[in-house]
Amino acid sequence: MNILIMGPPGAGKGTQAELIAAAYGIPHISTGDMFREAVAKGTELGKKAQEYMNAGMLVPDEVTIGLIAERLTRSDCERGFLMDGFPRNIKQAEALNNILSDLHKELDFVINIYVPNEILVDRMTGRLTCPECKTVYHRTFQPPRQEGICDKCGASLQQRSDDTAVETVRNRLEVYEKETNPLLDYYQKRNLLVNIDGQQSREQVFASIKAHLGRA
Ligand code: ADP
Ligand code: ADP
Ligand code: ZN
Repeated sequence: MNILIMGPPGAGKGTQAELIAAAYGIPHISTGDMFREAVAKGTELGKKAQEYMNAGMLVPDEVTIGLIAERLTRSDCERGFLMDGFPRNIKQAEALNNILSDLHKELDFVINIYVPNEILVDRMTGRLTCPECKTVYHRTFQPPRQEGICDKCGASLQQRSDDTAVETVRNRLEVYEKETNPLLDYYQKRNLLVNIDGQQSREQVFASIKAHLGRA
């Protein structure tokens, strides 16, 4: 199954993507995670991405599209993929169409998780991430068993730098409205869109998604 998961920053894309990827045995491809990894390692890609991320802006399309084009050719995508954080504008969506058609693949579903802005701000500012295994927690909504420590791998949890500055959080919400939200119409017209209420609990959101995807 070839799936995209969309929604504003903080909607729960990464959280659900992990559950879906594990349940359906497909890789979770997250452009945000790929960029954060590159920044942490100090690679050329990381140097290009860092200032855009800190400002809450999109990393330039030519960089991002190239990254995804390469990722989708890897053999672990043969049985499908779950893509989180890409595409984020029309240009990326059109590039994705071309990449997939070159690979003789098609999208099966585009999951859209919707959550109102007031809640998104609380979700982003309370988010904690494991730098090792990438598991996502929340100080209040999804706390780790032991404060500051990843339940799964024992690493120290971190707060994303783009989740702390009010200005950056606001920018990300604006960029989403302006650039990414129009894609919902784009995928609706192709009959691929599945809308999911992201204000439910993590488990309820996952159950709603599974009900749409079926056993596949
Ligand atoms: P995104 O990838 O869309 O930015 P995340 O999956 O990282 O979102 O989730 C953002 C924050 O909200 C995290 O701290 C996560 O633990 C929390 N969260 C995710 N899903 C839910 C939910 N259904 N209810 C409450 N909090 C949630
Ligand atoms: P969120 O949890 O806010 O949805 P992500 O982890 O998906 O965030 O992305 C974090 C940042 O990485 C974005 O604000 C942006 O700077 C950059 N980024 C991620 N995916 C893309 C993309 N497809 N195009 C451009 N920039 C991206
Ligand atoms: Zn961990």
